Amino acid sequence: MNREILVVGAGPTGLSLAITLRRYGVPVRLVERKPEPAGVSKALAVWSASMEVLEGMGVMDALLAEGARLHSLRIGSGPRELAAMAIGDGIDSPYPFPLLLSQARTERILAAKLAELGVEIERGVELTQLSQDQEGVTAELKHPNGRVEIQRTPYLAGCDGARSTVRQALGIEFQGYTEPQTYLLGDVLIDGGGLDHNSIYLWWHNGGTVALFPFEEATWRVFAVRKPGAGDEATTIAELQEHIDRHGPAGLRLHDASWLSAFRINERLAERYRAGRCFLVGDAAHIHSPAGGQGMNTGIQDAVNLGWKLAYAANGIGNADLLLDSYEAERRPIARSVVKAAARKLHLAFGGGRLDTILRDVAVTVFGNMSAVQKMLQVELSETEIVYREGPLVALGSPPRKPRRTGVGARARDAALADPPRRLWSLLSEPHHSLLLFEDSRHPIPVDGIMEGTGDRLTGR
Ligand SMILES: Cc1cc2nc3c(=O)[nH]c(=O)nc-3n(C[C@H](O)[C@H](O)[C@H](O)COP(=O)(O)OP(=O)(O)OC[C@H]3O[C@@H](n4cnc5c(N)ncnc54)[C@H](O)[C@@H]3O)c2cc1C
Repeated sequence: MNREILVVGAGPTGLSLAITLRRYGVPVRLVERKPEPAGVSKALAVWSASMEVLEGMGVMDALLAEGARLHSLRIGSGPRELAAMAIGDGIDSPYPFPLLLSQARTERILAAKLAELGVEIERGVELTQLSQDQEGVTAELKHPNGRVEIQRTPYLAGCDGARSTVRQALGIEFQGYTEPQTYLLGDVLIDGGGLDHNSIYLWWHNGGTVALFPFEEATWRVFAVRKPGAGDEATTIAELQEHIDRHGPAGLRLHDASWLSAFRINERLAERYRAGRCFLVGDAAHIHSPAGGQGMNTGIQDAVNLGWKLAYAANGIGNADLLLDSYEAERRPIARSVVKAAARKLHLAFGGGRLDTILRDVAVTVFGNMSAVQKMLQVELSETEIVYREGPLVALGSPPRKPRRTGVGARARDAALADPPRRLWSLLSEPHHSLLLFEDSRHPIPVDGIMEGTGDRLTGR
């Protein structure tokens, strides 16, 4: 059988998965329904944990060159600033800040890296159907000229977004609900108001909220919500200006919109992530409000988690079923809490009657200026605290000798290694696992014994 793993969808998730598979030497085919790369900004924030895995993919220099670092979140009500939160405090990462750039640019950088690894995106090719048996998956692919191709593949990854054809073909439910309001979005230029282009502004007044996110050289994303029952029709720059004048910081004039959208928000999670040899990854598996900016980030991290396991399975290393089942066991609980937290943040920022608004003002003024609260929020959003202690792979490890001191399954802290000099985390981002042995001269470690029987899976340094 053809050994190529079929990845469906060349958004940030599919691109990250294809890169990860290639880094492990696995052949990949990546098909994308759209004939051209996406031009709209969508996800603006790349968080620390994503940047750590993107460093492993070799794209961080390009992302840093094109993105801007976010410095602060300013929350205000009418003429008053209630809280100013410094961003980047307390995140234990080589990238302790969110990086702002448009998703279109992020995708372009990922696609260029994938091309370097020898994979071109097959554009205009749509997966229309699939079936599977014990040995593999049969996919029906429709080409731009109408030709229908049947491809056999050992594994198929559905990175095909919220309306996933793969999820529907597998009959997996997308459980959740649609938020009742219509949200408005505009990527615009803004004159006046003296806004700092490295800060996010979240402002409420007169019973409504607006949020402003800076990105690229001078563009702002304006985000607002229509009154319930006010319809779903397209928005205009005049409607956004009205929201800013009524609820936002004073003195802003919006102009030159590059993207305007009115949309409903879904909060949903796939009932399963795996069906036999097929997997759901990224928005195909979870979708939620953009509050907190976690969607693309969670998808990239899903892709890396599944990627190395699929690569091991494809290369015949380890127990394929155990590894592949651990993808859902590790990643679905993370998505469940991301979906819940994003809905909570959306309702806190954009919901509420008069009493709720007064209470929110007091809460934000008191808690929003406390550094402990600021740190907690940032660490949550950075996704650096994600660990898989409850997962089936960690459960395979021997019980720790001192359970309270030994964090089995915990995130490794970075450290400077002496000989040769390098950062510990630089080792961890390479496409293999690392076993670190800390020798004490009084109790030498029998390294040869440990290496015995591992073949070329373990090499000493
Ligand atoms: C306004 C807005 C703001 C956002 N802000 C943020 C943010 O700040 N941070 C963040 O992390 N996330 C954010 N998100 C979410 C983020 O955009 C998504 O989570 C992200 O795009 C998901 O990536 P994906 O690759 O999983 O899916 P997608 O980006 O949807 O990509 C799926 C791809 O699959 C292709 N496809 C679909 N069906 C088929 C088929 N049958 N055959 C072949 N190809 C197919 C599609 O054409 C598409 O290119 C935001 C989203 C929106 C709408």
